[in-house]
Amino acid sequence: MPRRHLLILLLLAGLIWAYLPAVAQVAPPAEAPVAAPVEFNGVQAKLHVDVLAGEIGSRPAGSESQARAAQYVQGQLSSFGYQAELQSFPITFYDDRGSTLAVAGALGRQMSANTLQYSPPGAVEGELVDVGLARAGDFSPAAVQGKIALIERGEIRFSEKAENVAQAGALGAVIYNHGPDNFNGSLGSGGQIPAVSLARSDGESLLAQTRRGPVTVRITVDASLDQRTAANVVATKPGGPQTVVIGGHFDSVAAGPGANDNGSGTAVMLELARVLASRPSPFTIKFVAFDAEEIGLLGSAHLVGQLSEDELRTTRAMINLDMVGVGDEVRLGGSDEVVSLAFPIAAQLGEPARALGGGLNGASDHASFMRAGIASLFVYRAEDPNYHSPNDRAEFVDPASLDFAGRLVLGVLDSLGGQR
Ligand SMILES: [Zn+2]
Repeated sequence: MPRRHLLILLLLAGLIWAYLPAVAQVAPPAEAPVAAPVEFNGVQAKLHVDVLAGEIGSRPAGSESQARAAQYVQGQLSSFGYQAELQSFPITFYDDRGSTLAVAGALGRQMSANTLQYSPPGAVEGELVDVGLARAGDFSPAAVQGKIALIERGEIRFSEKAENVAQAGALGAVIYNHGPDNFNGSLGSGGQIPAVSLARSDGESLLAQTRRGPVTVRITVDASLDQRTAANVVATKPGGPQTVVIGGHFDSVAAGPGANDNGSGTAVMLELARVLASRPSPFTIKFVAFDAEEIGLLGSAHLVGQLSEDELRTTRAMINLDMVGVGDEVRLGGSDEVVSLAFPIAAQLGEPARALGGGLNGASDHASFMRAGIASLFVYRAEDPNYHSPNDRAEFVDPASLDFAGRLVLGVLDSLGGQR
């Protein structure tokens, strides 16, 4: 071996000798591994949907099951290290105990009728009159006086249809579907006359009978209104002087278990709370599960109504997650300022989003914040064929869609904080 080579060899051996202990020193001891960054996990989020929609089920605001859901959400937020609070407020609860429609006479039979929510209770009997879609001008008011209006679904709201025939003196309203099955509709707030819905086939069968001769029907609505308590669940991660609200409603309609609407948004909010618990944030983040969205955005309106002038001024943005687990198309709506940040992030995540068109005013809880002048982002997916139906079940919620929604929100938070 030439002397030069021997020198290099000695040098290398020396280097290795010098390096080895250094490596040994920096290697962490086996019993204390370096914490891996907490990643958003759609499968983990889906477990919340399984509990909310699968185990607890339908959760109308003011119900026993919704109180259980509030406990679950509060318990989860506490387990991530937050102090989670219930923010309660009074609501008017519509208790629907069922409706019937019976055809009188030789052809008499019972049809399967659903209560239109907020229909007053009562039993009325009268001749059935076809009023088409029940728009003003679709029927002669005199023909409906003292009778029961048979109405086709479509074009205008259920409440407008019921109101138009009530104004003309109708005793009751029967609205039949444009699709095959029956549906669960709402009059929005107090109606004036008993109102029920039918499947299309039943509606058409009644329509055909009225064309052959007078048909008398009896409709009954067994329901009541009472005062109950609803509650938002709120947890705060302290950070900078400005606050970002991340929320979704956790109540459902009575008609179904509310997996996509809105177990999905609640689940993503909870998983974000878990992930963000250990991450530094330039903002104070408020995680909120809103109650009573389905009966008029009441939870978000209550929360916004409780904010002081100072809190209103320092709320940087609101991100609302509602129906984010079913459907192929991501839709984003709200304030241009925040929505414009979200579009490129959605595209980077591989799902280019479309703008939500139309009036967003009553769409979901972000509307309460926008009304107070707070820049908001509404994250949503289209279309859910099981919307507000008994089939809005956990098995149809896609963990990959929850994952996308979570990563989108994390990206928007970074954008708002100027980190991308
Ligand atoms: Zn919803």
